[in-house]
Amino acid sequence: MKSLAVLHASQLVTLAGPTRPRLGRELSELAIVHDGGMLIRDGRIAIVGPSSEIERNSGDAEVIDARGKVVLPGFVDAHTHLVFAGNRLDDFECRARGDTYEQIAKAGGGIWSTVEKTRAASETDLLLETRRHADWFLRCGTTTVESKSGYGLTVEDELKILRVMRRLNQETALEIVPTFLGAHAVPRKMNTNEYVDLVINEMLPQVTSEDLAEFCDVFCERNYFNLEQSRRILGAAKKRGLKLRIHADQLSNSGAAKLAAELNATTADHLEKTDEDGIAALKSGRVQPVLLPGSVYALGSTYYPQAREMIEAGLGAVIATDFNPGSSPTASMPMILSLACTQMKMSPAEAISASTINPAYSLGRGDQIGSLEPGKLANFAIFDCEDYRELAYWFGVPLTHGVYVKGEKTH
Ligand SMILES: [Zn+2]
Repeated sequence: MKSLAVLHASQLVTLAGPTRPRLGRELSELAIVHDGGMLIRDGRIAIVGPSSEIERNSGDAEVIDARGKVVLPGFVDAHTHLVFAGNRLDDFECRARGDTYEQIAKAGGGIWSTVEKTRAASETDLLLETRRHADWFLRCGTTTVESKSGYGLTVEDELKILRVMRRLNQETALEIVPTFLGAHAVPRKMNTNEYVDLVINEMLPQVTSEDLAEFCDVFCERNYFNLEQSRRILGAAKKRGLKLRIHADQLSNSGAAKLAAELNATTADHLEKTDEDGIAALKSGRVQPVLLPGSVYALGSTYYPQAREMIEAGLGAVIATDFNPGSSPTASMPMILSLACTQMKMSPAEAISASTINPAYSLGRGDQIGSLEPGKLANFAIFDCEDYRELAYWFGVPLTHGVYVKGEKTH
């Protein structure tokens, strides 16, 4: 296989550092090489350093001239709902007129319209439709996403969604880490406890026997799954060898952050309503917080999670898109960088660590992706700007110049 030499990046943002999530002040340390370069062999990074050193070792490698550009590890998006059919344009318009998410759901819009469309779609149709979503991520510089099921809510439809993820992972350049979120909502005309039994006794065994997921997630929230129901599902998933993520404290402070700590979940996600006690629990349970400012923004709320308090408490903070048709229809990590800085008061450097190396660890892939270091996969993005801070600053401007997965150009 060919070699590639990336040369003369105005900033090669390596994120080289300890082999664990970055905590507290470490989030600000990006290990930038000015006039930096990288030698890539067989899809992996061989050498990282000043361009002069790379040139000396490059032999007959194909050269990528990154003069005047920033090179970053591919973004790692640790919270998405990638696979669904259709869109929610009508809900979007209702919200623009002033209806709330809960009002829209009560009126029969919301998640149900997506569940119905997703159930009606065949596996092949769903694959064709969601290839477009995968392409959006790559185009914005993201090379790995976590992706949740949860728009099927029957055994067969949840499995269908997970199988589509597996095929997308094989057929597109985007790496997809699958999470089973059967407990995303309770199907209509079903009692919650009955549905919890179905998730535990029928869905989970099939998901794990077909090896369709690495993680299990639950939407722990008032009117969805309460603490006890969430504990039952996640406990059962853990026994079957799945790692845990949890939708926690989004609409109310229900104690879900504490549940995440109790169960040693890998991440607790959303956390808009998490208070000091919740933050302390995450710290003691070594749970990584995954903050999703895109959904706060798109719902027209101003209630963002307390990112500063979490970073200062020493948590391995992550930011992600929460890509989904209802509350966060964006695949753009640069947009999330902007929101992290303007709305959650994170620095641009913290936002970069929270969208690369920290999510890589949250997905159990910190040894393979998330930084530009020898031995790791050559997953990287080149941007048309000279300073990484521009990515968060020029919001809404597409700056992606090239995106590479295992050394192959995908965009
Ligand atoms: Zn979500």
